[in-house]
Amino acid sequence: MSYTERVLSELKERYAEQTEFIQAATEVLETLQPVFDAHPEYEEAALLERIVEPERTIIFRVPWIDDEGKVQVNRGYRVEFNSAIGPYKGGLRFNPTVTLGMLKFLGFEQIFKNSLTTLPMGGGKGGSDFDPKGKSNNEVMRFCQSFMTELYRHIGPNTDVPAGDLGVGGREVAYMFGQYKRITNEWTGVLTGKGLTFGGSLARTEATGYGLVYFVDEYLRCHGDSFEGKTVVVHGSGNVAIYAVQKAEELGAKVIAASDTKGWVVDNEGLSVEALEAIYNAKRSGHDQGVSLADYLKYRPDAEWHEGDGRGVWQIPCDIALPCARENTLLLEDAQALVANGCKAVGEGANMPTTLEATKYLQENGVAFFPGKAANAGGVAVSGLEMSQNAEHLSWTFEEVDGKLKGIMASIYHAADDAAREYGMEENYVAGANIAGFLKVAEAMMAQGVC
Ligand code: NAP
Repeated sequence: MSYTERVLSELKERYAEQTEFIQAATEVLETLQPVFDAHPEYEEAALLERIVEPERTIIFRVPWIDDEGKVQVNRGYRVEFNSAIGPYKGGLRFNPTVTLGMLKFLGFEQIFKNSLTTLPMGGGKGGSDFDPKGKSNNEVMRFCQSFMTELYRHIGPNTDVPAGDLGVGGREVAYMFGQYKRITNEWTGVLTGKGLTFGGSLARTEATGYGLVYFVDEYLRCHGDSFEGKTVVVHGSGNVAIYAVQKAEELGAKVIAASDTKGWVVDNEGLSVEALEAIYNAKRSGHDQGVSLADYLKYRPDAEWHEGDGRGVWQIPCDIALPCARENTLLLEDAQALVANGCKAVGEGANMPTTLEATKYLQENGVAFFPGKAANAGGVAVSGLEMSQNAEHLSWTFEEVDGKLKGIMASIYHAADDAAREYGMEENYVAGANIAGFLKVAEAMMAQGVC
């Protein structure tokens, strides 16, 4: 049994119930054995056993009072996974499905993603099983204040810098920032994704979606191709999806489908970003709770709406598919449909949207597959740039930040591409991203001794 197989099998036994974490660890470990063959000293230092175990996990009670005056209790988490190359960095997810296993999967991915950005950021993730959907603004505020009343003692600009994720947008980040400042009496860049009037970075909102398209565009450029004239479908219609649509259309593609939890929309004229943004904002206004992507037809009556599982988008013939909703939403049968319909590239805007079987099928059938830890790193990269601006008490222009983002995405593409070649797995961007992200963290951990 190889080193990676042994550690993976121990992990599966110890954390059998943490299925998403096991899935993420399997994807990474299965590609790393060639690195351990080249570096036997890593096994002697039990590097893998250490890297799969979070440095610290915090679980806490979050009591808050709803609009009826009733006490509600949720669970809060922060997984501080790895700080070898910088302070823990990663988002907070507020969603009823949140479990420790889900946050460990996201935190584990974040270690390698953050390493790939070239910025000094460790890996972490957190959140709560609180559902902001259907709550009033006051309820969301009271929850965020209670959440931060415990979390504040574990974070700091040089310790752990959380951000948003599913269910945590600008509104939630702002409420948490306000509470942190109130408790600590300190104005500091402790969260990223802040509003522009209090230390947020221009282009952070667009960063993940734009970055995803810059990444795929770099691949296309290196293969003598471009987005011009390509047909694209996306899954999801949230923050990542909207700005992926916008940038792909700017580069000459036609993006014809998107989805939400209620169904999917097809617009053969190319999706309207204004309509998607209006629906996204209405969903988060805290008032109009009946809004869904079905409302797209109010803006573009010629589009088609299909109620049901948004995975319907994978049945639509396209050149490029961008899963931007959430984990495990592109399954084997979806991959088979994409291949059968001539799809040439899949870029993950979400974290781990493609299952292991679907990934293998796409790779084996000649589809260029770009894993989220590389392709969606633009968001955390601009979060890193927000930290730099806060530390320097400066604000860069949109063009400056966007230019840096573009450069970072191209460098991540080449880091993954080069690593895949060096280890004899040309065009395998999953292996390339895992290896390139891992090596930097591994070197730092080796230098810092057993800790
Ligand atoms: P978001 O704004 O909340 O949008 C999520 C989208 O996915 C919405 O359209 C939502 O539909 C849909 N969705 C949610 N659960 C779903 C499910 N079970 N099946 C199908 N669709 C579902 O979130 P986001 O910020 O765009 O993040 C999307 C993904 O990207 C997540 O995996 C996140 O971890 C990852 N990511 C985000 C960033 C970032 O900067 N935002 C950075 C890196 C990675 P409804 O509107 O109906 O809920």
